[in-house]
Amino acid sequence: MFAKVIVDISNDELDRIFDYSVGDLSLEPGCRVTVPFGKKQIEGYVIDITDATDCPPEKIKQVTARLDDYPVITQEMLALMRYMCNRYHLRVIDALRLFIPTQMRNGKVKELTRKYVFVNPELAEPRSLIRASAQGQMAALNYVLQKGEVSLTEINTVCSAASVRNLLARDILRERNVEIKRSPYVNLAVNENSVTLTQEQNAVVNAVMSSSGKTFLLHGVTGSGKTEVYMHCIAKVLSLGKTAIMLVPEISLTPQVLSSFRARFGARVALLHSGLSAGERFDEWRRLITGEAVVAVGARSAVFAPMKNVGIIIIDEEHDGSYTSESNPRYVTAEVAEFRKQFNGCNIILGSATPSIESYYKAQNGEYELLELKNRINKRPLPDISIINMCNEIMGGNTGVFSAKLESELYKCIEAGNQAIIFINRRGYSSYVMCRSCGYVAKCEQCDVSLVYHKEEGALKCHYCGNRYKMLTACPKCGSEHIKRGFLGTEQVAEKLKEMFPGETVLRMDNDTTQNKNAHMSILGDFASKKAKILVGTQMIAKGHDFPDVTLVGIVDADMSLHFTDYRSVERTYQLITQVAGRAGRDKKPGTVVLQTYSPNHYVYRFAMSGDYKLFYGKECNLREVTQFPPFTKIVRILVSGENEVEVKNALGGIYEKIKILSQGDKRFVYLNCMWAPMKLIKNQRRAQVLMRVLPEYDSISRIYEIADEAKTNKINIIVETNPNDLS
Ligand code: ADP
Ligand code: ZN
Ligand code: ZN
Repeated sequence: MFAKVIVDISNDELDRIFDYSVGDLSLEPGCRVTVPFGKKQIEGYVIDITDATDCPPEKIKQVTARLDDYPVITQEMLALMRYMCNRYHLRVIDALRLFIPTQMRNGKVKELTRKYVFVNPELAEPRSLIRASAQGQMAALNYVLQKGEVSLTEINTVCSAASVRNLLARDILRERNVEIKRSPYVNLAVNENSVTLTQEQNAVVNAVMSSSGKTFLLHGVTGSGKTEVYMHCIAKVLSLGKTAIMLVPEISLTPQVLSSFRARFGARVALLHSGLSAGERFDEWRRLITGEAVVAVGARSAVFAPMKNVGIIIIDEEHDGSYTSESNPRYVTAEVAEFRKQFNGCNIILGSATPSIESYYKAQNGEYELLELKNRINKRPLPDISIINMCNEIMGGNTGVFSAKLESELYKCIEAGNQAIIFINRRGYSSYVMCRSCGYVAKCEQCDVSLVYHKEEGALKCHYCGNRYKMLTACPKCGSEHIKRGFLGTEQVAEKLKEMFPGETVLRMDNDTTQNKNAHMSILGDFASKKAKILVGTQMIAKGHDFPDVTLVGIVDADMSLHFTDYRSVERTYQLITQVAGRAGRDKKPGTVVLQTYSPNHYVYRFAMSGDYKLFYGKECNLREVTQFPPFTKIVRILVSGENEVEVKNALGGIYEKIKILSQGDKRFVYLNCMWAPMKLIKNQRRAQVLMRVLPEYDSISRIYEIADEAKTNKINIIVETNPNDLS
């Protein structure tokens, strides 16, 4: 018998199967093993067992050892590995590494065991074996008899360690290893207030539970009780003896969310997120693979939770960009979920208050089934949104951060003892260029996306087609020389608020203030307990938090993501405004939202104000169709990088020529060009790209992968991406 082994080294040359003889080991597919490799012993994974090999007998070596007493990669995951390698062009080992805890590899983390002692059960009268004078031994024996089983540490502190040793040596006491699970958050408060679903919620749960093998898009306004729907579906799935996977964006995995799942499902939940220690993560994973835990709650990577018989996969905030893994290994969470759905015959729920245009389009076409929650719980109204034209503020002499309206609303809110959230958008890290007098934004004439200012070249560039334009000195529309680039910082805004409210604490949450593992949680905790009335923050505060006393939300610079140089920027702006606005007025007190913008007439604000997603979708979808962007096309980019500019250029040229030939006469190619990447130099690597847009039915991507592979050398790195989130 031969084992087909993938060795745990990520390298293109070694990305193939090695054959080893099994010898007298008991092996099955999915086992982790050590094998001789060159002069070393390394770890690997058995992906198949066969009777034959092409390897000449004198060359074949034998598997050294099997590492675990269970296969660490399940049958389903082996199938998923094949699917992912094919679809995303991954190395096999990079796919496999997604499926097991990192620290488990190379034995960096193991089961935590403790020694326990118990009385030898074969002895009828153990006390009779102890001399009357040996009081220490008698005390130890009595202690164990009374407790049944005691940890060695405990008995050694309570009784004489020498006596315990003596009893163990004489086989009166015996010891065994017991595995201890390092489960996170077991100390969280349990609040078992199970609610009665509203009619709307019930209809959704019933629709999901009465079918199988379907993907549902759950469009529910903020505060409509989606989480409650998820929990009911999970409970039903568990009662059928199946398991469940619940995915949430990393920044929404707050203690609130985690504890509500613990409260509902107790120890049956495994929590997988980046805040866990290696030991905790490993133990939670072990509880899933052994079936001890049957619900996995976590961020993107929890889609690989190793459970069997999956009954439902839920992806909350499905529009969130974090569900796409952008760096190696690249994958799209919803696609992995689709694979597991097929394998298990289960359902998927994609939930959002602001579905991505692509998902909603699928729901319109019948690929997904649309479910809706149109009302907030208790019919609480959505907050009022006021749109403030910042151009008018400037003309009126106010060049500050806050409009007069936001300032007066802030005073009102704080004086009434309520809380306020001030949101600052940091998505547009590359600076667009805008006229501060009339709101004009420089755009590409061919792509209708905002241009990016490249300081080093003093030019404006389109990140889609590569066109260059001269930097503006005056506004082409109104002639003003107030041209703005760059963006506002949270720190600046927090300072201003401290000036306005000298007695108040102002909390700030952004990348700088959340470097520590628990900072995120502690800032939100302080705000929830009302230690501070004002919270200033970036995207991190936009999601999922439920603060009943927040009555005011200020959006300081709504335009930031609008003019991000991405075809999705309008969609993202809509999503962000809806999410942030959804933080206000969630409880009994009504909420107000003040949104500051330099482009008050942009359709995105009108639609956000009306809260009507469908109107927004209609308009946006139309635009995508006219301009031929996703979902009406797929964007494919081949990114070429290397240290030497000439080599990068040559590789790029070679690829471009081949793609050009490939595209000739092929009507499925809508656009093709090659250029330097927007970020031309990263970490001393020159970057260039071939960009194309193809019709959705284009299915020859493997040919594009081949062309890219042919151009790879040890000096040139090439990656192929489809609809990447980030085109920098
Ligand atoms: P969403 O995720 O749709 O924004 P949530 O699930 O956070 O909404 O629900 C909003 C609030 O309504 C939460 O405080 C939740 O506990 C509460 N809630 C949800 N369903 C019900 C219900 N059927 N009855 C009473 N309260 C509910
Ligand atoms: Zn102007
Ligand atoms: Zn362009």
